[in-house]
Amino acid sequence: MKNYKVLTQAVLVTLFVLATPASIAASLSDDVRSLYDTKLKDLFVHFHQNPELSFKEDKTAKRLGDELEALGYTLHRGIGGTGLVALLENGPGPTVMFRADMDGLPVEEKSGLPYASEATQLDWDGNRVPVMHACGHDVHITSLVGTAKLMADRKEQWSGTLMLLGQPAEERVAGARVMMEDGLWDRVGQPDFAMAFHVTSALPTGSIAAPPTAAYSGADTVDIMIKGIGAHGASPHTGVDPIVLGSQIVMGLQTVVSRNLAPRRPGVITVGSFHSGTKHNIISDAAKLQLTVRSESPEDRQLLLEGIERVAVNMGRVAGLPDDMLPVVIVNQGEGVPPTVNDAAFV
Ligand SMILES: [Zn+2]
Repeated sequence: MKNYKVLTQAVLVTLFVLATPASIAASLSDDVRSLYDTKLKDLFVHFHQNPELSFKEDKTAKRLGDELEALGYTLHRGIGGTGLVALLENGPGPTVMFRADMDGLPVEEKSGLPYASEATQLDWDGNRVPVMHACGHDVHITSLVGTAKLMADRKEQWSGTLMLLGQPAEERVAGARVMMEDGLWDRVGQPDFAMAFHVTSALPTGSIAAPPTAAYSGADTVDIMIKGIGAHGASPHTGVDPIVLGSQIVMGLQTVVSRNLAPRRPGVITVGSFHSGTKHNIISDAAKLQLTVRSESPEDRQLLLEGIERVAVNMGRVAGLPDDMLPVVIVNQGEGVPPTVNDAAFV
């Protein structure tokens, strides 16, 4: 809570400092503090005690939307399910978007705090599960309301359009896409600049970090389907062993980051799952690998994904498989996100 409070204030102050002279920023800092004490603290506790799962953020979206509407913003609700946009038009100038995600996680809160979540909800399979804001999105939406209030109070100090966006289902890496598919930009216009932040316990309390490069890695989920030729375990020469081939692919993948990615560029390829076979003495006819891939730029992302394909397919050739039996690499489009690369000039 203390962490959140200070960080929330720091974020709000920093966002305004970006656009305001020093004298205004000083009084703003006091106003943020007092707004937190009189309103945002209680709002944060409300959101924290009432978390909702991805795509089930109905009450959260309603409360967030109602708070913004009460401040004079024009609301567009129900974009991609529970997504919403609040607009404050204030004369000529750019449209600047602030985005906050709204969903909680199916996690039981064991913090012991007096305001700990005791909420439960039916999950996507119909099971009742505990829910908490384990990722801090309650801070994000509380800050969005704080931003809304302070910007509305200071309309004479800025000009343009402020766009505040509540996004569903960040945890399922799907909410932003669903809002886009529901015609987000057609319905509310497209912003000239977009900003967002995420709370973290990795930084000292009161700090804010805005790297001029990638703030968050891109994440891709990849399956490699390996075909082999089954045989008796005592006669390996009559088959193609998919476990040996899969092992060679796993080892070959270790060279993609270490030998293809530039030495000072970070990247990750992890094989998190390797399944094949049913019995001690049977050479299987298939294996399946499941990978997660992290990258810091669109170019690195392409390099890593192409490297995985190259290693997997050509290891199949090394094993002597015909072209129609070579390993198949599937990049799951629905579960991938590109890296978040900050606009260096904006930072
Ligand atoms: Zn999060």
